[in-house]
Amino acid sequence: MGRLDSRAAIVTGGARGIGAAIARRFAAEGAAVTIADVLREEGESLAAELGPPTRFHTLDVTNPHDWSAAIAEAERAVGPLSLLVNNAGILEFGSIEMQAPESFRRVLDVNLYGAWLGLHTAVPALRRAGGGVVVNISSTAGLMGYAELGAYTASKWGLRGLTKAAALELARDGVRVCSIHPGPISTPMTAGMDDSVTSGQPIPRFGRPEEVAAMALFVAADATYSTGCEFVVDGGATAGSMILADPAT
Ligand code: NAP
Repeated sequence: MGRLDSRAAIVTGGARGIGAAIARRFAAEGAAVTIADVLREEGESLAAELGPPTRFHTLDVTNPHDWSAAIAEAERAVGPLSLLVNNAGILEFGSIEMQAPESFRRVLDVNLYGAWLGLHTAVPALRRAGGGVVVNISSTAGLMGYAELGAYTASKWGLRGLTKAAALELARDGVRVCSIHPGPISTPMTAGMDDSVTSGQPIPRFGRPEEVAAMALFVAADATYSTGCEFVVDGGATAGSMILADPAT
């Protein structure tokens, strides 16, 4: 018996990276997963690999019509929607001085507005399901600041705040809403980064997408007394600084 048997889930940005790992893990635990992404070829191929009831739906998280269609089709195909993972996101570097205004807006649009739109559209469906869980994939950039990543940092803090407001609003409907805050994870998004990114962490390596998926499963299936809060998967990066530690000890 799976821990998510008979639950219908939508995972945005589910065609690759962290979203794909979450889709795989949820499907392995018995959920009927809709992989929702702009990357059609990769999404369809993952859905075919996992087999029915896993399905793919083309979804740009910034498009209200895509959201309505994805939720309606998921409900029609596999029943009431009780799990939503707002995972789709983009990373664009740029100092506050140099980043183009369109780039700032694009990052906020996908990472924050896209998740809000997902929640906004999914609330009636979650209510019809009698409750559920929303997992928002924020970042350690939603817990601290990163230079040259002002837009990304603002979007991920925004998503953390949205999580709390939604948790308060939706508790009466039996919906829990939590955020997950990964540190550096090996995915196409971080393909250009080297090991110096993780060298100061207590666990000095990149995380694996499966390690974030394990936390998403915990939040969805087990964390029944948790809502409006943060779950961190970062190799200890936000625990503090090791800068004053004596290398000889
Ligand atoms: P990824 O490998 O780039 O995968 C993200 C997926 O989302 C891609 O398939 C991407 O398609 C899709 N996507 C982008 N814009 C979209 C949109 N408007 N609508 C629907 N899908 C869209 O990234 P990842 O590393 O797995 O990241 C997943 C989430 O974790 C993101 O929210 C990211 O910010 C967060 N995160 C990642 C890390 C990390 O180190 N990897 C750390 C902390 C947080 P395209 O390729 O076409 O853009």
